[in-house]
Amino acid sequence: MESKNTEKLLDQKPEKMPPVGKLFVITGPSGVGKGTILERFFEDNKNIIYSISQTTRKPRPGEVHGVNYFFVSKEEFEKSIENDELLEWAKYSDNYYGTKKAFVLKALQKGADVLLEIETKGAQKIMEKFPDCITVFFTPPNLDELEKRLRGRKTEDEASIKKRMDTVKEELELSTIYKYTIENDEVENALSKLQAVYDYEKRPENEMQGEYCTENEAESEAGRE
Ligand code: 5GP
Repeated sequence: MESKNTEKLLDQKPEKMPPVGKLFVITGPSGVGKGTILERFFEDNKNIIYSISQTTRKPRPGEVHGVNYFFVSKEEFEKSIENDELLEWAKYSDNYYGTKKAFVLKALQKGADVLLEIETKGAQKIMEKFPDCITVFFTPPNLDELEKRLRGRKTEDEASIKKRMDTVKEELELSTIYKYTIENDEVENALSKLQAVYDYEKRPENEMQGEYCTENEAESEAGRE
């Protein structure tokens, strides 16, 4: 997997970019095929940065530290929580996953668009902090198909598959809170729908005029309610 545009874009001069980037949050059950769709999406869209998450999960064959994830120990992860280094984090199937705060805020402030690929609890935390973020929820065509995909990956044991399937059912119940829902019936189809969302959100009339607040502002807003 290539490094999804990340370093190249962060090296750009801020003045060459629009003042405030857009935050895209891609979510949906594990095994729904988000990864495959996003790999294709990043090939076609070089101006959006992928936020590389931190996780305590062990790397799967072919996964690379610093490309797919930053693979860290439980202790390291808990330290980043303590030091408030994560924009959001969640425990998923007995592992921690989290979004690096400094990286995302810096990229947005430089005017880059950033894409997070995270599970639903994390997505909801981001929606609270960044009310203008653009959320896309991917659904499986049906649950049997999803279970087949999870088993097909041969990376999870039976207990983990069962746990993931229970989580999926809970996640699907909340699918209506996201701005867009795309059914991943077929990669090409889902990819073109994601592209349509991105193109729509990037139309000049949809560009935000500095509407993003910083995380602190979002927190004090929330405190005022
Ligand atoms: P996997 O183990 O299959 O790579 O990921 C399991 C789930 O964790 C997926 O739904 C994925 O989207 C989610 N995930 C990956 N990174 C993050 C993150 O930084 N934060 C949260 N909340 N979820 C994440």
